[in-house]
Amino acid sequence: MDSYQVNNEGYYGEFGGAYIPEILHRCVQELQDTYLQVLQSESFKQEYDQLLRDYVGRPSPLYLASRLSEKYGCKIYLKREDLNHTGAHKINNTIGQILLARRMGKRRIIAETGAGQHGVATATVCALMNMECIVYMGKTDVERQRVNVEKMKMLGATVVPVTSGNMTLKDATNEAIRDWCCHPSDTYYIIGSTVGPHPYPDMVARLQSVISEEIRRQLLEHEGREYPDYLIACVGGGSNAAGTIYHYLDDPRVRIVLAEAGGLGIDSGKTAATIALGRVGIIHGARTYVIQNEDGQIEEPYSISAGLDYPGIGPLHANLAHQQRATVLAVNDDEAIRAAYELTRLEGIIPALESAHALGALAKLTFKPSDIVVLTVSGRGDKDMETYLKYAL
Ligand SMILES: *Cc1c(COP(=O)(O)O)cnc(C)c1O
Repeated sequence: MDSYQVNNEGYYGEFGGAYIPEILHRCVQELQDTYLQVLQSESFKQEYDQLLRDYVGRPSPLYLASRLSEKYGCKIYLKREDLNHTGAHKINNTIGQILLARRMGKRRIIAETGAGQHGVATATVCALMNMECIVYMGKTDVERQRVNVEKMKMLGATVVPVTSGNMTLKDATNEAIRDWCCHPSDTYYIIGSTVGPHPYPDMVARLQSVISEEIRRQLLEHEGREYPDYLIACVGGGSNAAGTIYHYLDDPRVRIVLAEAGGLGIDSGKTAATIALGRVGIIHGARTYVIQNEDGQIEEPYSISAGLDYPGIGPLHANLAHQQRATVLAVNDDEAIRAAYELTRLEGIIPALESAHALGALAKLTFKPSDIVVLTVSGRGDKDMETYLKYAL
């Protein structure tokens, strides 16, 4: 049987690879040659595990949501990544990559950010490790996400507003890649999701795989078996989903459901539903599905959730969709808002708008009473209060 994991050339089926400018060839090659050896070393594992425990607060709870379960007629467990330090799963990845950067002798950290969540998670670990931190962010996003910009500055990072293109995530990423090209020897580029050239998608998936490692252990404790019937997660670039499904990818007993952002509807022209609408192309150095126009120009995506409006998707997930290993559902803005209010009122948990898309998938599925469902709450809703109030139900 073919595995859904990456192959030696950095591909998931026909997706992935490393399509990069010549000048970055050595950096990416160095990373490819180093990452597995470091991630699998005892000294790395020890430092990483200790920080996840004492700094992030892992393991995150696996919480049996009784009232939500009753509503949907099955047993729903929530994997509580919202309880991590900095409020989401992104810190699992930035801690791992900064430890790798240090072991590679890099002194300068760069990152791109859209909503600012990855920027904050990167600035946080740079403060912790006393490293220089430069975060590229589209000027439009800088204005939309003022609190996250202030947090990054308070943490000691330099935030560079990018004024090219639409001044959003895509443009910030181009600028980060340009910086990397100018400083290839001393700079480490921390990518925030399972995107970018090989080895980033595999590296980020491995660093987030602590989520499914814990799910296995916690399910065994609660249910006497290591696997659920369903795993549900939202997908922007794909990192919280990758972490949730990592150890179950090749287990056919487990159904994988991915929720992408439908925006105002997949036919509305205002959407971020990459699997539904994307065609194969190259984005950020990887071959994957991309929302693009007839000329192959990347189209500006839209979602009410700033963390999901990415015009591509990780190559791992593109392959899972292509092979029909995963069911991909588009959840629209209004469905996500409704789901967020539902969780809040039933369980007293205000989820991030991104996570609300995963919750919105519940109403689109039919469960048996015996089904065990694990749904990842990727982050907390504090940052989204303005939006929730605007659409108050
Ligand atoms: C960034 C973010 C996402 C989307 O990113 P993935 O890489 O797809 O996980 C989802 N949820 C939250 C809370 C986020 O901050």
